[in-house]
Amino acid sequence: MNKLISIFLLILLSNFAISQQADILIKNGRIIDGTGNSWFYGDIAISKGKIIYIGKPKNITAEKIIDAKGLIVSPGFIDVHTHIEGEEATNPTANNFILDGVTTVVTGNCGGSNLDVQSYFRRLDSIKLSINVATLIGHNTVRTQAMGRANRPPTQAELQQMEALVAKAMKDGAVGFSTGLIYIPGTYSQTAEIVSLAKIASQYNGVYATHMRDEGDSVVQAINEAITIGMQANIPVEISHFKLSGQQNWGRSKQTVQLVKDARANGLDVTIDQYPYTASSTSLSTLIPDEILADGRDSVNARLQRPEVRSYVTNYIIRKLKNRKLKHLSYAVVASYYADSTYNGKSIEEINLMRGNKHKAKYEAETVIEMMIHGGAGMVFHGMGENDVKYIMQYPFNMFASDAGIRIYKQGVPHPRGYGTNARVLSKYVRDEKVISLEEAIRRMTSLPAQKFQLKDRGLLKEGMAADVLLFDEKEVQDMATFEDPHQYTKGFKCVIVNGKIVVENGNHTGVRSGVTLTGPGLNKTL
Ligand SMILES: [Zn+2]
Repeated sequence: MNKLISIFLLILLSNFAISQQADILIKNGRIIDGTGNSWFYGDIAISKGKIIYIGKPKNITAEKIIDAKGLIVSPGFIDVHTHIEGEEATNPTANNFILDGVTTVVTGNCGGSNLDVQSYFRRLDSIKLSINVATLIGHNTVRTQAMGRANRPPTQAELQQMEALVAKAMKDGAVGFSTGLIYIPGTYSQTAEIVSLAKIASQYNGVYATHMRDEGDSVVQAINEAITIGMQANIPVEISHFKLSGQQNWGRSKQTVQLVKDARANGLDVTIDQYPYTASSTSLSTLIPDEILADGRDSVNARLQRPEVRSYVTNYIIRKLKNRKLKHLSYAVVASYYADSTYNGKSIEEINLMRGNKHKAKYEAETVIEMMIHGGAGMVFHGMGENDVKYIMQYPFNMFASDAGIRIYKQGVPHPRGYGTNARVLSKYVRDEKVISLEEAIRRMTSLPAQKFQLKDRGLLKEGMAADVLLFDEKEVQDMATFEDPHQYTKGFKCVIVNGKIVVENGNHTGVRSGVTLTGPGLNKTL
């Protein structure tokens, strides 16, 4: 009898415990949990920034009840390739990311990051952003600190200094080490230097994320270098913005994706990411030969004034253009040129004509040199093939990443990827062209990046996980940003919750800044 009473009491108590009180209850939605499994109907309860219940409706009371009828409920998206440095304080609400469903970014990519990760995180914690932020430690950043923009291998002492800087950053919570091997000074490094530094990141269980040495004619060698670094340093590899640049290389994605598959088959944890567009975006300086760009701005400008250097650079640009089977620099469009904003949105071909020059590649190359001397520019390069974009997209270990910063609304004519990457995948490639399924796309936007970058409590809708949750209409979701008019937010994301706080309601940013800094597995690790 006593036993029966105690069992009865236990059931009563456990029932009492189940009738939980939550901050937010999301009801009637079609849940896609991020695993890649199919959607199901269910409720999600959130309390104190965490998911406390997911499943069939049950008796939960909440301060705020959200009816998700007709909507998809998914984890917040994780954008593993961003460059938010510089805009955190001016635009902490990060509207372009939030309104594209992004709740977490990994920044510090392409070799460029904050040098002091600890003070960076402290600064972010005091600013408070609407998005969560993790960072990599950049190769170009530590190399510049140790040896400036010098075009040579490091001395033993310089290498040791770089190793110490990487170790410090990993201990401060960086999630890995990034390179930008087309940029100054990373392009002057040899594979052995990168292996040495990647080994340090590996000791702290980080990843190696790389903007490779080449994404065009020499892409195979570049992928092989990334794989070699991964093998020799015993570190997981993320190949950033995987692509084939230049018309002469279109169709080679079969070959390059195969290299990734083969490396995985050989035991290397290598994954890739892409932005879903046929244009890239980077600095004007990438049109200039590396050796001209060594040392400081004054040295570069002095070199570019010399007639023999100018004709060398001009010939280089024309040669590259011919290689692309093009007559003019029509594929190179200015995103932002501080010296003259009327150039923004125009191609180098058009700008050359605006300047009253003859319609010849030679003068277009001269225009590039002049623009470099006057401070350089951010560019959009239209150089990829749609079929390669789709082929890469079908690879299951490819994630989606914007390669963007926090956009300043209406400033310049930047690449639309900063506004519309995820919405474009969900509308154009999932809904309209059916290249991949909705559940698969969401897996690549959530749990795959979380697993790769070891963001352990993110990327899945599961009890105990951080409450980064999205509600969107799969029929309505649409990227609106175009190359001509990029400053347009996406449509269809009805509600965005970051760490249990509502950051988007009815499609509008609420101004709430509930993002946190996310540290990597090497935090405070002693070797
Ligand atoms: Zn890059």
